Parts: sequence; C-alpha cells; structure tokens
Amino acid sequence: MADTTASANASSAAHSYAAEQLRSEIVRHLMLTVGAGTDTATLTDWRIALSHAVRDRVTPTWLESQRHIKSQGNKQVYYLSMEFLIGRLLEDTCINVGIRDAAVAALATLGVDFDDVVRDEPDAALGNGGLGRLAACYLESMSTLGCPATGYGIRYEHGLFKQSFEDGRQTELPEDWLGHGSVWDVERSAHRHLIGFGGGVEDVDGAPVWNPGTTIIAEAHDIAIVGWQGNWANTLRLWAATSPTVLDLERFNRGDYLGASEPEISARALSRVLYPDDSSDAGKELRLKQEYFFTAAALADILGGFLTTHDDLRRLPESVAIQMNDTHPAIAGPELLRIFVDEHGFEFDEAVEIVTNTLSYTNHTLLPEALEQWPTELMARVLPRHLQLIEQLDQWHHSQFPERAESVGLLAYGNVSMGNLAFVLSHHTNGVSALHSELVRKELFSELDSLHPGRIVNETNGIAPRRWIKLANPSLAELITDAIGTGWEADLDRLAELEPLADDPEFRGAFGRTKNANKIRMAARLSQDGCPKLNTAALFDVQAKRIHEYKRQLMNILHTIAHWSRIKAEPNADWVPRVKIFAGKSAPGYAMAKDIIRLINDVAAVINDDPQTRDLLTVIYPPNYNVSMAETLIPAADLSEQISTAGMEASGTGNMKFTLNGALTIGTLDGANVEIRERVGAEHFFLFGMNTAEVSARRAEHAHAQAAIDASPALQSVIELIGEGRFSPGEPGRYCGLLDSLKQHDYFLVASDFDSYDETQSRVDERFVHPDHWQRDAILNVSRSGFFSSDRAIRGYMSDIWSTSSALGGA
Ligand SMILES: *Cc1c(COP(=O)(O)O)cnc(C)c1O
Repeated sequence: MADTTASANASSAAHSYAAEQLRSEIVRHLMLTVGAGTDTATLTDWRIALSHAVRDRVTPTWLESQRHIKSQGNKQVYYLSMEFLIGRLLEDTCINVGIRDAAVAALATLGVDFDDVVRDEPDAALGNGGLGRLAACYLESMSTLGCPATGYGIRYEHGLFKQSFEDGRQTELPEDWLGHGSVWDVERSAHRHLIGFGGGVEDVDGAPVWNPGTTIIAEAHDIAIVGWQGNWANTLRLWAATSPTVLDLERFNRGDYLGASEPEISARALSRVLYPDDSSDAGKELRLKQEYFFTAAALADILGGFLTTHDDLRRLPESVAIQMNDTHPAIAGPELLRIFVDEHGFEFDEAVEIVTNTLSYTNHTLLPEALEQWPTELMARVLPRHLQLIEQLDQWHHSQFPERAESVGLLAYGNVSMGNLAFVLSHHTNGVSALHSELVRKELFSELDSLHPGRIVNETNGIAPRRWIKLANPSLAELITDAIGTGWEADLDRLAELEPLADDPEFRGAFGRTKNANKIRMAARLSQDGCPKLNTAALFDVQAKRIHEYKRQLMNILHTIAHWSRIKAEPNADWVPRVKIFAGKSAPGYAMAKDIIRLINDVAAVINDDPQTRDLLTVIYPPNYNVSMAETLIPAADLSEQISTAGMEASGTGNMKFTLNGALTIGTLDGANVEIRERVGAEHFFLFGMNTAEVSARRAEHAHAQAAIDASPALQSVIELIGEGRFSPGEPGRYCGLLDSLKQHDYFLVASDFDSYDETQSRVDERFVHPDHWQRDAILNVSRSGFFSSDRAIRGYMSDIWSTSSALGGA
C-alpha cells in the first residue's frame, strides 16, 4: 500500500520540471563524467553521477559565499579539529538544497532506487566519535546561519577502522572511504604549504632561526558544506601530506625501487590513518606530527589570506577567530608566536597579546589521562623552536602571576601540558554542557580561572536537525511539518508548538505509528546484515556510542543478565518484551573495553538461543557503528541509555539525538543529561544513580565495590553466572579480569549504581505498557528539546566567543 502511494507520488513529481532537469543532469554526468551508459551503469556509477549533479547545484552558492566574504571583509571563523565525522554527504546535501524529492523521482524514472544509491556512499569516518561528529554538525550549522567559516582537518586516507566480530571479539580492518575516489572533494593545487619538522635552532645575530630537518607538503582538498535551503556554503579544507621529493630517481635507477619511494611513503604517513583514540597510545610521535601538520598548514593558509588584504598583523583578531576543538590543535599558539616573533619581528609580549585575542579553546574532557601531555624530549626533537617558545611563555606567565600555583605551569614532570597551554593562549575556554563547564571552572582549571576570571564560558553542545531529524527520521519530520508547518528545521524552538498535541489522541496515535515504522525499518536493515529477527512490538532499548568503561555498557549487560534470570525464574509472569541493542567500537588497544564487547556478544549468543525467553528478550550488537548506523538506530529507539558515571561524560550528543527522535532517556545526572532533564521535565525522564558529589564521596569509601555487591542479591547472582562460565562454556575464567576489576576497584561505580539502575528499568517497563502515557512523554521530549539544535550552540559561540555575525543578515 505504502509502496504504491510512494511510486504514484514519485511518478507525478517526475513530471515536474525539477525532476526532469535533474534527470538530464544525472544522465549527462553518467555519460560524460563516469563514462557509463544507462544500460550498463552500476549502482556506484549512478551514485557518482547523482553526486556530481547535486554538487553542481552547490558550487555556485559556494563560490558566491567566498566572493561575498572577500568583498564584504566579514570576520571569519576557522574551526580547527583533528576529527570531522561527517558520514555520508549525498542525501544531506540533497535535503539542504531542496532537491531530495526531485532526485527520488528522477532516479525512479531511470529504474533506480534513491535509497539504494544513497546507501552505496561510504561513510567519511574521519573521526572517532562525539567530538568529531560535533565538528561536523557545527560546520553545517555555520553554513545554515551564514556564519563565514572554514573547517580545517586532515584528509585521512583511512578513517576509523571497520569493526567486525570474530567469536564475539572485536577485530579491526582498515577502512577505505576513498576507494572509488571522493566525489565531493576538490583539490586546490594553489593552496600548498611546506611544513617543517625537527632540525635545530640557530642563533643568527642574536635572533633564533629554526632550520627544520625535514619538510612535508600539505595539499588542500576542499569539501563544500552547504546549509539549510542552500543559501550559504562554507568550506571544509582537509590537508593531505605528500613529499617534495616524489621519487628518488637516483635510487630508482640503481634498482632500489622500494627505497626510491621512501620519502613519499614516510611523508604520506602523516595523513594515512586516523589516529586511534587510545589514551595508552598518547605520546606517540606520529600523532604529535599530525597535530602540528594540519595546524601549521591551517595557520599558513589563514595568515596568507589575511596578508593579501591587510598589512598589519596587529589587527588579526578583528578579522580572524580561530577555534581549537580540544587540545589537538593547541600547538597553534606556539606556532603563531613563532610566526609573529621569528618571521615578523614582533616583541614577545605583544605577540602573546595578539595570539591570545585570536585563539579560543573548547575543552572536551575532565579525564586526566585524556588531557594531552607531550614529553619535552619528544617536543625538542620534533618541534625544537616551539619548545623554546613554550618555555619562554611559561616564564612570561609566571612573571605576570608570581604567586601562581605550581599546577598551572605549562611544563611539569618533563611534559608539556597542552590543556594549560591552550588555556593560557586563548581569550575564552569553553566547556560543552552546563555541568561540565562548572567542573572545568571548579576543578580542572580552577587556579587558571582565578588568574584569568571570566575566561571560562559554557556552550552546551548541539546537533544538526537537518541530518538528525529530517534525514534520519523522514516520517517524524513529515508528522511535525503536518502539525506545525515548515520552518522548524532552522528554528528548532518551534517544536514547542507540538506540546498541546501531546494530549491529542489522534496525534499520539500517528506519533506511535511513526516510531513503529522506524522500528520495522531498522529491523529490516539489520536483518540484511544477518541480525536475528526482532519483535518490533518489543521495547527497543538502545545504547549506541563508543565503548568505554565510564559509559558503562558493562552495567547495561549486567542488567540484561539479571533481567533474563528473572524471566527464567518466572516464565509466565507479565514480562514486557525487550530488545537490547548495543552498538559501538572500542579503541584497538583498550583491553577492558574489548572484554566488555566480548561479554555482550557472549551473552547475546546464550540469550538469543534460549527458547524459554525467546519472545521476551533479544540482545543484538550489530558491528561497525558509524554515522549511518546511528541514523537508522536512533529513530527506532524507545529507550535511550545515557548511563555514564556522573561527572565523566562532558556533554554527550547522542543523548540529544535520541531525545529529539522521541526516545525516553534512562540516565544519570551527567553532561547534558542534566539540561535535557530540566527541559523535558523530571517526570518524563528516568533518572537513576549517584550525582557527581555522591560519586566522589563513594569513591573515597573503603571497599565500596564489595559493599555494593554484598548489598545486591541480583548483582551477586549475575557475577556468579559469569564467573561459572554460563556465557563462556568451556572457559569459565574468560571474564576473571573483568570481574576482579568490578569487585576490587570499580572506579566507574557500576556496582554502586546497579540496584538503582535495575529498579529504574522496572519503572521503564511499567510505563511502556501504557502506550498513551509513553507516547505523551515521548512527544513532550521532542517538543521541549529545540534547545539542543547546533544552530543555538553556534549562535552562542558567535556572540560569546567569536564576536562574529551572519553574512546573510539576521541570525
Ligand atoms: C553522535 C555520535 C556519537 C556520540 O555519541 P555519545 O552518545 O554522545 O557518546 C558517536 N558516534 C557517532 C557515530 C555518532 O553519531
């Protein structure tokens, strides 16, 4: 039924001018760009042809946006980020330029399915998780708002690894998003910069001169990021590394073919792979080099552009705002000092002032092991002049504040503290949720805050509604538009107009059907990848995010086991059917996270094979979580798991995606959960567990883990089941290490929060059996979450931090 309507709509739209026009552009690109005929084209051929046709619609806007900035001299934002987790671009771009329907219709007349074409595009996984996805949402919002901006990052040849499971264990395979080349990126051969490394510092007439030992070329590749309704397009500029020596011809002629390519191979290593997000690996030389490589290239680009239209570098902060996404680009400070002092002859003090007025820094973590520290010995080897400048800056800062505490120094215990460095050279440092910013001010940077009052501000994260509602959840988007009209896509506070409809039985019914359709869509997509058949009437309970101890997937799987045991003990009770869905990757070297992955898969195998509980509980863990999978899972979720140990999740953005897609949250008072709960109302949010103060107090208690286990019969029996090998037949010791850590240290307080979580999960079940109540809550979650749009977040950065305005007027 639905299919006939869809194709009827498609064929009527096909006669529209837009679809006709697009159709001929697709066919033209298929022939002239791809070199294929409509009779021989593969799915990938169609995808490339469509992408070119769509790109053609963006390019004029893109050029016009650049021209506008040049002629009007708008202040520009430069967003430096080691990660941009952009995912697929084709459908998002179609939606933003308003030709999605035309594309569906045009392809339909050619006998090609739009969804198949869209899903042929590889994800650009140039990031690990939330931090990289935030950068991607922010770029799109800056374009939507007409905020002149450029994103700078690295064009990794291989993005985040592909995850698969072997006997339940995570294995990593290289990812290959550039396999067929990228349709979206344009090489800018005019924008190449030489980036130096190593060597030494010479004294020439009393002035230090850095003579790098090696030089690498940074080559610009640009991707247009178009905003909603195609009014403005900013640039994502990604740097690829190459060698100035393409081939050592002398070695080649001697027959040393491998050796002849050595310079090229070692240069390319810098943009070869996304560095694993792995604290134990931090401190590796390649990562420091990658950070300097893209930061120095970005700064050369920015200053080069500035100096073509200005002659006074003192005025840089009036035209340029540089945002450092985390400390990865924090070497920007010393690099700018080097350029000002060594290349332009500025006095050190004045250089510090200009640089500080140009830079700002976003802090993303309080975890001490995730705050970057570079050994001075390594820094001396890779960036000798920068280390000198950091030492000079440290002395300068000390002279400004003779009373300053030891801990705010830039150098300590043989390391450079990149967090302190970023703070000292920024006019603003921001946290990413109200709670996180408070902890940044009170704990992480408390001493620096008292020396530089007012420097710390909060900008709560956000997500782009175009991708996370309009693209990911077209049926909900349509329902919203039917109810309140269009325009909410770029004015998400308008979702508040849905609020009265929470009490309208008809709207609730339609809302529920939308969720159901999304669950069916998800189940169908997962079953294509070999997932067990799912009962779509069951409660879909989803935890999708990186696997990390602080995110506590362990607590979720322990609860799953407890729930399973209870069903088995009382098989005829009125159980609410549940599907537990896990998704996420672990850092390759993170042993404990990998144990948790294996445990989830082991438990899934046993539970899914149990005929006694078959219709009541299913556990699935589809491999290779990425942006595209998030777009399928999140709209299908009834329940969103945001269960981190309080004080450890800086903000989260997954939590916002779920809320805006009508899932209810079970969560702790952590990160942006706090603000989500305040907005949606405490009675529409399943809160459990300790708050940050209670977490600190609890951690200080002697043997808190064992005490919590002793007090929880449910947890005891779960631990027993795992310990006796119920989920690892033939190898009862498989989870010894994991259980020991839970019983002895339990730094993340899984045991202490377990009972509260378990009880709250029962309350979830009690509510789910009342669909009216549940849907009312879900609608209120959607209607009260407009605040979590990344447009609101970017407006905050523009006014509080960057002092920029929209080039489109308004906003
Ligand atoms: C949103 C998103 C994240 C961040 O999720 P959190 O729950 O905030 O950690 C990570 N990965 C992908 C693919 C995402 O889309």
